[in-house]
Amino acid sequence: MEKYIPDLYQKNIYEINYKNLTSRGIKFLIFDLDNTIGLLTERHASEDAKKLFEKLKKKFKILIASNSIGARVKVFAHDLGIDYKSNCRKPKAKELEQIILNSGYKLSEMAIIGDSMMDDVVFGNRIGITTILTDQLGKKEFITAYFKRQKEKKIQKKLRDKNLFTKGRYYE
Ligand SMILES: [Mg+2]
Repeated sequence: MEKYIPDLYQKNIYEINYKNLTSRGIKFLIFDLDNTIGLLTERHASEDAKKLFEKLKKKFKILIASNSIGARVKVFAHDLGIDYKSNCRKPKAKELEQIILNSGYKLSEMAIIGDSMMDDVVFGNRIGITTILTDQLGKKEFITAYFKRQKEKKIQKKLRDKNLFTKGRYYE
């Protein structure tokens, strides 16, 4: 069950204490897109997201790593002025893993931030980087994500029963 447990857990990307990440030695942030940075109903990055990333870009190297196909991801990445990798197939994400491993950063300097235990947290824990889970921004999801979410709910119930993770109980 450990592979599902994030190192940090916050309500959304705006609540994360980025100064603490810097203190932990994190220099490279890998962000999920859908329901982490933007709603599925949004076609462009919000003004809030633009403001946040404008600040973060000064402190961190940033990459958007999304399971979505190119076009949607490209628009967001362009709006925010950051690099992206689409069609990642997290949690497997072999190409993403190669990009990360060849980035010149150490694993201890990287964190992945996303709303999916099954995709973002499992991927990050597998390759050994810091994992940060957020709650999903909206209810609407792609059908594949919806089925994963149902499985995630069952896992979260087990984690809660074992007192390992409780949704809504945020921690850093
Ligand atoms: Mg997501």
